[in-house]
Amino acid sequence: MSDSFQQAIHASIPMLKNIQKSLKPLPRASGTALKKLREAAADRRTAATAPAAPAAGLPGAKTPHPEKKRTFESLREAVLACEKCPHLVRSRTQVVFGVGNPEAELMFVGEAPGADEDEQGEPFVGKAGQLLTKMIEAMGFARLDIFIANVLKCRPDMPAGESGNRKPKPAEMGTCLPWLREQIDLIQPRAIVALGATAVEGLLGDTSPMRDLRGRWLEFQGIPVMVTYHPAYLLRNQTITEKRKVWEDMLLVLEKLGKKISAKQRAFFTKAGG
Ligand code: URA
Repeated sequence: MSDSFQQAIHASIPMLKNIQKSLKPLPRASGTALKKLREAAADRRTAATAPAAPAAGLPGAKTPHPEKKRTFESLREAVLACEKCPHLVRSRTQVVFGVGNPEAELMFVGEAPGADEDEQGEPFVGKAGQLLTKMIEAMGFARLDIFIANVLKCRPDMPAGESGNRKPKPAEMGTCLPWLREQIDLIQPRAIVALGATAVEGLLGDTSPMRDLRGRWLEFQGIPVMVTYHPAYLLRNQTITEKRKVWEDMLLVLEKLGKKISAKQRAFFTKAGG
């Protein structure tokens, strides 16, 4: 060891002793106390990230059970942070978790977010979404009364230079399905509406054509699933016959939920109802 190095060590010893004397002893805490502090900090973090509940009296303001809400919020955090599909993580703007009431009696399931949904972070906000919202309102619900989600939570990526949307791949839907499963498990809706063939494939693995599936009750985790056309299909086929088919499916849903159906509702998209 060089002389100058030894001198430097000797010079620093009294300084270090002075620093040690000036330090207050650290408080001691038991393992249990530390665990409680960690839990309180985690609760504060969850509360800070939870979106505000709808004000009482507004549609969707049914107060969720606090325990259930915490679990639903922690699921939301996990889904928003999901990186299971690296190619979708790279292309997405944000994860689209779903929107509505965690206590909803009715749930709508689509296939995947499109460009508008990817941008706004909410499912069914584009043209097809606006039609879906009208349908929901004609059924007597507000958008926030029910819950809307997709099988795939990220927008399917497009080849460079191509716009538009592509159908989610079965492997992508398989990877994402556990999130939807958990959402359904927590919400426990009394009925689910699957919108279009891709949603049925992703949810139930059934690849039958829509002409065989539409208007039928299937089942997912013991919950009745009504299959109907995707609103984007109705935008492409705006005939009263196709609109009426979807409306008849919605009447079946209302009946399943035990809702009163008005004469006006029964007549929608018939010659009598316009
Ligand atoms: N189509 C879907 O299936 N889901 C959306 O969120 C938007 C369009």
